[in-house]
Amino acid sequence: MKPRIIVSSSLFALIVFLSIQFYTIINVYEVRSHDFDTRYNQVIREAMDELNDYSPEQGLDSMYWYLNKISFYYKDIGHINDAEIADSLRISLRNDIVNVMQAAEPFSRIIRYKLNLQNMDPNLEAGFIIHDFGIIEGFEILPIIKNDTLLLKNKKPVPLNLNLQGSLLDNFRVEQDFFAINFDVYVDFTRKRQVIYSEMIGVLVLITVSILIISLVFYFTLRNLMKQKKISDLKSDFINNMTHELKTPLSTISLANQGLSNDDIVKDPLKIKEYSNIIKRQNKHLTQIIDQILDISMWEKQKINLVLKQIDFVHFLNEKIDGFKMVHEEVQIKTFIPRSSFFIYADVFQLSIAFNNLLDNAVKYKRGELNLIIDLIVNPDEMILKIKDNGMGIHPNDQKHIFEKFYRVNTSSVHNTKGLGLGLFYVKSIIEAHGGELWLESELNIGTTFFIKLKK
Ligand code: ADP
Repeated sequence: MKPRIIVSSSLFALIVFLSIQFYTIINVYEVRSHDFDTRYNQVIREAMDELNDYSPEQGLDSMYWYLNKISFYYKDIGHINDAEIADSLRISLRNDIVNVMQAAEPFSRIIRYKLNLQNMDPNLEAGFIIHDFGIIEGFEILPIIKNDTLLLKNKKPVPLNLNLQGSLLDNFRVEQDFFAINFDVYVDFTRKRQVIYSEMIGVLVLITVSILIISLVFYFTLRNLMKQKKISDLKSDFINNMTHELKTPLSTISLANQGLSNDDIVKDPLKIKEYSNIIKRQNKHLTQIIDQILDISMWEKQKINLVLKQIDFVHFLNEKIDGFKMVHEEVQIKTFIPRSSFFIYADVFQLSIAFNNLLDNAVKYKRGELNLIIDLIVNPDEMILKIKDNGMGIHPNDQKHIFEKFYRVNTSSVHNTKGLGLGLFYVKSIIEAHGGELWLESELNIGTTFFIKLKK
């Protein structure tokens, strides 16, 4: 199956799994919420029954008695329906009704007491919802409160918000001598959500842990899949590149060989020398490539066995640069190298490979004319070598991987130069085996600087 199909189908499965978990949480919440309402309403009922058994003074009867009294008082001072003075009278009547009803609210105390007895959460707000209140004037009822109003103890009355969180209990319609009222008893358990969540904590933890585990497994599986894909891409790139690297010198050798069997060339000693030089050079190149590939032990161990000798790095560097100049006369090289010696313990053979690899890369990945700046900064106990080119540069995304085994910049989009992607990995392994550091700074289409730091 293609990785993209695997990724999208497993992503789909993950999303379905998450949605099911989410749906489960909502369902569990609803079941718990229903259960909460049943349990708490049961307690409220019991409390209300108890309240009804109380003596009238303690129950709602005393509230009706007061309401009747103030209704009579306002009726008695008259003019309550007189438009000019009605407003202020009505406001103070309304306030009196609210005060009486708020003061009379006795049931929340009983409910709390009952909840406490059963170890249930006693945090609640209770009150009345007045639908309408009117004063009886002969055969008429004079409306005083018309809109639904929520009265909670010690709070200002608020116009009723239909989105009530709490429960409506009994509805009362009472008509006495001087007033008529229609109201509901209302209870809101303010910590209902917290109570339900705390009851659900086990389920929530289990679901969260399983989501976490599955997401982690998903993440690591995808990461492994990507890694494997990368490795398999690298492998096939490597085999293609290796075939090319081996075939080019082989076909040059075969061409030179054909030339040597040509009668005209056999007669010309200069030509013979030239052809044999070509064969020699290609042979050396082939040996180098094969050595690099065969040195598998180094790829696995990461650390190379060095044969260390004390050398003057300044002398070594000048020699290598001179050697490079002889082969690449077209390259402009500026050097800033101190005259004084800098002795280090190093494996000359391996250091030469590292240095040559860096310079060869500068040639391989140049853009037009190649200018090199080689700069050696020497401190008392360490030195930094900078090799700066004006080549094609390396994109920041590639810089992160450039020292990895087999890593090559996406060749089709950037350059067509063949290689095995081992050069920089080799250089880094060599420098690190010397206890040194290798890093780079690069800007696309501007150039690259490699830094080598070695200690005494
Ligand atoms: P190879 O040259 O065989 O591909 P290397 O490990 O030497 O392998 O280099 C890895 C990649 O780094 C190359 O494919 C190339 O794209 C990039 N690279 C290396 N050196 C330079 C440089 N001096 N300038 C620009 N790109 C470079």
